[in-house]
Formats: sequence, structure tokens, C-alpha cells
Amino acid sequence: MFSSLGGKSVLVTGASSGIGLGIARQFAIQGARVLITARNADKIEAVAAGMRAEGLQVQGLATDVADAACVAAMMRALEEMYGGLDVLCCNAGIFPSSALENLLEADWDQVMGTNAKGTFLCVQAALPLLRRAEYGRVILTSSITGPITGSPGWVHYGASKAAQLGFMRTAAIELAKDGITVNAVLPGNIVTEGFLDVDTEYQTGVAASIPLKRLGTPEDVASAALFFASREAGYITGQSLIIDGGQVLPESLQALA
Ligand code: NAP
Repeated sequence: MFSSLGGKSVLVTGASSGIGLGIARQFAIQGARVLITARNADKIEAVAAGMRAEGLQVQGLATDVADAACVAAMMRALEEMYGGLDVLCCNAGIFPSSALENLLEADWDQVMGTNAKGTFLCVQAALPLLRRAEYGRVILTSSITGPITGSPGWVHYGASKAAQLGFMRTAAIELAKDGITVNAVLPGNIVTEGFLDVDTEYQTGVAASIPLKRLGTPEDVASAALFFASREAGYITGQSLIIDGGQVLPESLQALA
């Protein structure tokens, strides 16, 4: 389907589990050379080794996207490994829950630091490599929460995910002259390790609010990410695509009957 992805150098942050792992796997299946990163070194190495055992071209590296020095080191390692970068997927994100009235300043800073600042640091550090590639695709993992919807317990998270889209629109304009596109996937509720940490009452309730009557999978999101990365999507930039089974559509409970 996406024949243009074979041999491309792809970096996926936050790829030791969940959506990032799903995105990385689908790129690798298409013949891309993929670097996956996350903070836990043992886990990311084990995940990469498992994918190599399946015959996929995947390397793992421990990185904290909220730390500028770590991000710079990640780009140097990537250049040594694959000689350049064609596709950057800024997917690393955290979503601890806290009601607004109890939210600590430290919680706000941690979520914004990973989700919003992490996006900025990774895209900025990748620019020399993306410019050189003369292909240049950036795909951000945002969310429906923040840009489209609100959800109790996630003011900080929603703000960080909306911030990614504000960043995207101006970055898309600034980088257009280099032929680099910047787009975002907006997942709904996707079954991942992180999602399964959220309380079970929420998990069971949410599926009933989705017109397609099921939670999403990492593969559902990966398909959209691969589309944005493809040659065929080269004239699309600054756009976002919702992958949510129709969750944002209903105006009333009757609409879900
Ligand atoms: P997940 O299963 O918890 O995976 C998160 C990944 O990010 C892990 O690999 C984690 O590994 C890594 N990570 C976290 N903080 C990091 C940091 N500072 N630096 C580098 N890596 C870091 O989560 P997920 O559900 O797949 O979510 C992935 C992305 O999708 C997030 O941006 C999230 O906001 C977004 N999203 C998820 C859903 C959903 O329903 N699941 C919906 C909308 C949007 P380490 O802990 O080892 O670092």
C-alpha cells in the first residue's frame, strides 16, 4: 500500500509499548529502518531485539524526550546508525490523571515537559537531518482530548495535546520551504499499556460512547501515521486526522442508540 516507505529511516519516540510500538512495527513491516526510543533502557532494547528476531530492521535506544541533551544524543546515534532521517514520529507522551483542584504545579510541568516541550525538542533537533533527506515527514501523536474534546482529570494533558497542534501549524509553514511536512494523528481511546493504567470504570464506560462500538488499536493509529509519511501524502501539511471510531460525533445519547 505504502511502497514509498521501504528503506526510509524512521524515528519513533515512546515506542516501547502502545501506539508508538504499533507505529514502529508497521513502518518496519513496510521495509523501513526504524529507531525506537523510550526512557526504560532494558525494555526498549528487549522490544527492539524481539522485532529484529522477526526479521525487522529495528534498533532501540534509551532517551528522555523532555531532556534536550538526551534528544541531541538520540539524533547523533540515529545518524551513526542509519546515516540520516526521513520520518520523525513524535509519539512519546504521558497522561496521569488529576482533577484541576488537586493538580500540582509539578504535575503540570511534567506533562507539558514530555508532551509539548518533548515535541518541540525532537522536531528542532531533527531539522538538519530532515532537511538533508529532501523527503522530511514529521508526524505528531496528539489526541482528541484537548484539541476536540474535554475529559475530567486531564486539563494538563488536554492543554499539552492542543499545544502540539499549535506548534504543528506554524512549524508546517516554516518548514514547507524545505519540503518537510508536519501533520498529526489524533487518537481516541486506544487499548495500550498506558490506557490500561487508567481506571477500569472509565475503560468500560468509554466503549459505549463510540459509534463503532469498540476501542481503537495501535494498528488503527499506525495506518494513519504511515499515510502521512508516504510519498502519496506529500502535498498534505499542517493537518490532523482523528482516529476514534466516530467518538467525537454524537450530539446526544440518542445518536448512539
Ligand atoms: P503508553 O502505552 O504508556 O506508551 C508510552 C510510551 O512513551 C512508552 O514507550 C514510554 O516508555 C514512552 N515515554 C513516556 N515518557 C517518555 C519520555 N519522557 N521520553 C521518552 N519516552 C517516553 O502510551 P500510549 O497509550 O501508547 O500513548 C502514546 C501516545 O499516544 C501519547 O502521546 C498519548 O498522549 C497518545 N494518545 C494515547 C491515547 C490512548 O487512548 N492510548 C489516546 C490519544 C492519544 P518509558 O516509560 O520507558 O519512557
